[in-house]
Amino acid sequence: MNKYTRKLKPDTNLKGEYTMESNHFNDPAIFGGCSVPIRVNRKSKPDATVVNINGIRIGSSEVVVIAGPCAVESHEQLIETAIAVKAAGGMILRGGAFKPRSSPYNFQGLGEEGLKMLRDISRETGLPVVTEVMDTRQVELVAGYADMLQVGSRNMQNYPLLKEVGTHRKPVLLKRGMMATIEEFLLAAEYILNQGNEQVVLCERGIRTFETSTRNTLDLSAVPMLKHLTHLPVIVDPSHGTGHRWMVPAMAKAAVAVGADGLIIEVHHKPEEALCDGYQSLSPNEFARLMTDLKKIALAIGRDITLP
Ligand code: PEP
Ligand code: MN
Repeated sequence: MNKYTRKLKPDTNLKGEYTMESNHFNDPAIFGGCSVPIRVNRKSKPDATVVNINGIRIGSSEVVVIAGPCAVESHEQLIETAIAVKAAGGMILRGGAFKPRSSPYNFQGLGEEGLKMLRDISRETGLPVVTEVMDTRQVELVAGYADMLQVGSRNMQNYPLLKEVGTHRKPVLLKRGMMATIEEFLLAAEYILNQGNEQVVLCERGIRTFETSTRNTLDLSAVPMLKHLTHLPVIVDPSHGTGHRWMVPAMAKAAVAVGADGLIIEVHHKPEEALCDGYQSLSPNEFARLMTDLKKIALAIGRDITLP
């Protein structure tokens, strides 16, 4: 027994979940045929975790919709979009100030200036804000402005970053790595919980497959699987999950139907002028129509979405 195989909690009945070297896929002692680390494991905490983002609770019977632009571009863009999001029933505002762009020549985000806009517009509208942090050196700064820290798909296995956001007391939105298994996703979340931060929301945002007609393959089967394995709330991003504006409503409704605790949807007041991901962003009218439909789905499965 070395430090990697020793039990974290000697009194637990869970076996093997946190050993590094066991062949856990074939071990019948492992819950669900998949190695689920102890802190995120539903067996060690049967009650669902509710994550509180400045008063907005994710993981209760209410389905929470996060919406806003891919990137913060200007004060006008953000306030116009935020007002539309709030009017339609969106509860939390999203918007990237530090953007992980595939090309170094694309718009990289406004940085701290964008964070200030998020904070100011959050105060104006009363909507809490979530924004991405890409680097351990930015965590302090971003946590000073945002209500929730997003760790993006490309950083799901950035272990120093996971540890750093775990030491802060801000809720974390952890997006699934585009090539991560459910097990790797849960292990990434475990890094955050291990630092003492249990306020973690998991986000399915599509994975890479052989399919090229969609930007990613939105793995909606991950929702019931994650809900089965972990007590953490699970939300879905149908915008990055499909890469097509016209597909977002269908997949958003499907996500609520399969039990997602929330959604994160890209909305832009003028999608055709967006500097980032306009092709997958809903207009304010499209978003408002979707919210009305989502409420019907939520009610049909015994949940709710409060509309203004
Ligand atoms: C985003 O939500 O802004 C984003 C970049 O998404 P992902 O990390 O899932 O690609
Ligand atoms: Mn985007």
